[in-house]
Amino acid sequence: MALHTQVDESGQEAELEVNPVYVRELSYEIPRYRLPEHGQLPGTALQVVRDELILDGNARLNLATFVTTWMEPEAARLMAECAAKNMIDKDEYPQTADIEHRCVNILSSLWHAPAGSAATGTSTSGSSEACMLGGIALLWRWRARRRAAGLDASKPNLIMGANVQVCWEKFCRYWQVEPRTVPMVPGRLHLRGEQAAARCDENTIGVVAILGSTMDGSYEPVLEISRALDQLQTEQGVDVPVHVDAASGGFVAPFLQPDLEWDFRVPRVASINASGHKYGLVYPGVGWIIWRTPDALPDDLVFRVNYLGGEMPTFALNFSRPGAQVAAQYFNFIRLGRAGYQRVQQACQDVALRLSGEIAKMGPFELLSEGRDLPVFAFKLRDDITGYSVFDLSERLRMRGWQVPAYTFPEDMTDTAVMRIVVRNGFSMDLANLLLDDLRMHVRFFEHHPQTQPPPEIQRRREAFRH
Ligand SMILES: *Cc1c(COP(=O)(O)O)cnc(C)c1O
Repeated sequence: MALHTQVDESGQEAELEVNPVYVRELSYEIPRYRLPEHGQLPGTALQVVRDELILDGNARLNLATFVTTWMEPEAARLMAECAAKNMIDKDEYPQTADIEHRCVNILSSLWHAPAGSAATGTSTSGSSEACMLGGIALLWRWRARRRAAGLDASKPNLIMGANVQVCWEKFCRYWQVEPRTVPMVPGRLHLRGEQAAARCDENTIGVVAILGSTMDGSYEPVLEISRALDQLQTEQGVDVPVHVDAASGGFVAPFLQPDLEWDFRVPRVASINASGHKYGLVYPGVGWIIWRTPDALPDDLVFRVNYLGGEMPTFALNFSRPGAQVAAQYFNFIRLGRAGYQRVQQACQDVALRLSGEIAKMGPFELLSEGRDLPVFAFKLRDDITGYSVFDLSERLRMRGWQVPAYTFPEDMTDTAVMRIVVRNGFSMDLANLLLDDLRMHVRFFEHHPQTQPPPEIQRRREAFRH
């Protein structure tokens, strides 16, 4: 045993340092909008915040969101363990960086990047950031091509359907790219090849194809769009790359429609993004983007951070970001495997098809999609049903907590109001049957109680739904 000696006089008064967080100096009141003078016990703070949050909706009844609302307890534990890991600290957390590297490789092969093409990608905070990076790469490449040819590079445009998610409108506004949107028309609710090619010119940085549309869950025909652009190149000499916004479909099509050619099998597809936190089955927020080849991603967009005494290339809008979601994505990949993802997505599709089939049979509704692409479908009231609207129905479904959004379509179809159901993992056939019972009951209610027009403030609220 070691021998210990009494410290000398001068050491007797030495004190332990207490983490300032442990100090118990308490406020009995918590101002709502100002920083309290003192704090609370941790247990009290936890309870106060929890009590506030009980009024949030029940995620299991939320048929509006595409974003994951349930993971296994083991995944939740893993995420809590990784809460302190910062994705940008490649030097401090080299294994997290390695797991991200494996995820990029798994997705590259899932999306059929050609062997030896050195497909390059990264995780992001979600598809919005991924789309922004994809758009920037298209813009930089187009600009470099124009400048190299001594041509004007001041009027870039991007072609997309009017059904794009708001992130593409943001991209165009923030980077001053002209958005050329192809309107939706009855019977054509998303972008097709002919309409895309017709809007391209020498200033087109790319075409965005969506897999699938947030409006109705349908896949845009990537192969058809690409072939129309091949023809355009033959006839007019303009070479327009395609970016596939597969926010949802990137984790669905490989399992439910493995033969559909929408990914790097289509030579014109330069880059693909997906949301890990949608059908990738991870809690928010994680997204992914992959470029077919390293040169699809201009080098002057790439920054380097420290990594094990060397440097690692990065391309991101954020700097610090949580590493937990990336770990959870990898957890899902090894936990589920191909067969597991296939089972989960198939179960969602079975529920979506059952719901849409029964809703079609009810009488007052018309389906705009069935849920055969994404397990997502939209439906409207028949034109001769005038006693109530889908907004009335949506509000009435809320009585039992069901959140089924109603919204109007974009430009040129704004008088079409629809409801949309997103079926996610955890929305069981049992829940679907309960929802159908409630829908039937509310339809009967409205048949006996036609509604009047709501006041303008409620009208405005109804129009504010964002996808
Ligand atoms: C959800 C979605 C986005 C935005 O994705 P986030 O991951 O929420 O940032 C972009 N495009 C499409 C098609 C989407 O469905």
